[in-house]
Amino acid sequence: MAAKNRAERLKSKAAAVKSKRLPCPYLPGDTVFVLSGDDKTKSGDFMRYDSKKNRVYLKGRQMVQHYVKANPNENLPGGMTSVELSIHVTNTAYYCSVCGKPTSLRRRVQDSPLGGESETVWVCRRCGAARKPAGAPSGPA
Ligand SMILES: [Zn+2]
Repeated sequence: MAAKNRAERLKSKAAAVKSKRLPCPYLPGDTVFVLSGDDKTKSGDFMRYDSKKNRVYLKGRQMVQHYVKANPNENLPGGMTSVELSIHVTNTAYYCSVCGKPTSLRRRVQDSPLGGESETVWVCRRCGAARKPAGAPSGPA
């Protein structure tokens, strides 16, 4: 019995290694373009990333109707609501607000304005505009 369980455990472990986890290419505040599905050619704000399933949640995209039971304890009314479902990360692209197109990003090394070491910034591959710093962690507090 124990041997079988161990074999199953090893099998599931191998499957977990096999399924490749893709790194999240987006930051909070990024606009993401949808490449396929019902919301194809539309863009939405990045909400969160499911790193186990490689899926992206975008605000107001891939909406489904969803019935919720009323919860009197928390004073929540029941009824029909809309929730976002996820989109696979390979069906999305970074959306550049400057050139208005889906694009990819590349790194550019530039001299720091304060002098000293040069810094790396992410820029649009089409127009060279720098990525919005909205989601980037703000400097040392
Ligand atoms: Zn651009």
